[in-house]
Amino acid sequence: MLYLKDAVLVHWRTLALKRAHWLLRPGHAPEAVRSVPRGAPALDCDGRLATRSFAVGHHHVYSALARGMPAPARAPRDFADMLKLVWWNLDKKLDRAMVGACALAAAVEALKSGVTFVIDHHASPKAVAGSLHIIAEAFDRAGLGHLLCYELSDRDGPGPRQAGFAEQEAYLSKRQGLVGLHASFTVGDELLERAALLARRHKTGVHVHVAEAASDEESCRAGHGTSVLERFAKAGLLDSPRAILAHGVHLCAAERALFTRSQAWLVQNPESNLNNAVGILDGRGLGSRVMLGTDGLHADMPASLKACYFASQGAEGLSPAAAYGRLRAVHAYLGTNGFSGDAEDNLVVLDYAPPTPVTPGNWPAHMVFGVTKADVRHVVSQGRLVVKDRRVLTLDEGRVMEFARRQAVRLWRRL
Ligand SMILES: [Zn+2]
Repeated sequence: MLYLKDAVLVHWRTLALKRAHWLLRPGHAPEAVRSVPRGAPALDCDGRLATRSFAVGHHHVYSALARGMPAPARAPRDFADMLKLVWWNLDKKLDRAMVGACALAAAVEALKSGVTFVIDHHASPKAVAGSLHIIAEAFDRAGLGHLLCYELSDRDGPGPRQAGFAEQEAYLSKRQGLVGLHASFTVGDELLERAALLARRHKTGVHVHVAEAASDEESCRAGHGTSVLERFAKAGLLDSPRAILAHGVHLCAAERALFTRSQAWLVQNPESNLNNAVGILDGRGLGSRVMLGTDGLHADMPASLKACYFASQGAEGLSPAAAYGRLRAVHAYLGTNGFSGDAEDNLVVLDYAPPTPVTPGNWPAHMVFGVTKADVRHVVSQGRLVVKDRRVLTLDEGRVMEFARRQAVRLWRRL
């Protein structure tokens, strides 16, 4: 139980504003109260704005030590080249200590950005066993909700693939999670079938990259005579409302129709798509099952919202309210699927004092044009204060970053 004293709460869905003292009970929406009992645990907000905290719809914490790493031997020619030269070179060099450092550093960054839930897609082909538990334990220590999976793929041969299955199986038998798959072009038919079976057995969905670059679709048509989404639909991957498809930039008209008829969710990662020059999602007609992620670049969801809005202006032309809807869709995904850790008692208190009034009608515009992660002052995760006055309370930030930098130096020597 925790009281927020004198906060202007912006309801994340109705956008209604109300200044009050707020009682936070685990799993419940904040409740306005007349006064705060003397001696009760309370956070003085001095009239600051508070609202629901953020969640990342698609992340790769394994890339947390990539920032500033040495450039590859030559410049990548295209998206597939980028994977081979950069990301698959990096993830194969990770050991258990590095995975732990990635998770802790990513957790600190997430919390300080006002994020209290991360949906992650993990790969460390030479350190598979126990990797999901390492990440889960780091996130638990931090007070960060999570939905993890291990990236199954045929890209590194049968050894890492089998290890990936064993890790998924062990993890899903104890924890909530998804079944990770890399992407159609590195997943053979046998693997696809086994992954679908694993997801069904654990009553969960897959988390897979889809049509990120045009080459994913071209390779699928050449190798399987069908589109990526038709291939996945035939394998039954789209039947679960827990299924997450990342990107979807190059879905054709038939696939878009297939998606809207399915139960699956799509995650847009605008900054990553710009970084890889693969195009921008056109979400027109895809409905409300579209959420936002960062694809491992960072955990700054206000930045992801801005990128989504600005990148859309040349094509689908989202309104601030529509872009804000994508930022918040993740709560519907997690809530309707019964995942724990993302209830209404996850909040941020902002140091946001804009030059214009905040109203229910213009809050999405304030989020797009104003609020940044630098405005995050306090963070409450599952009813517990985890960031106070911009300092993480659950982890020693200095030690975490020092440990991460040591592991980054070790990792970079191997690249
Ligand atoms: Zn990704």
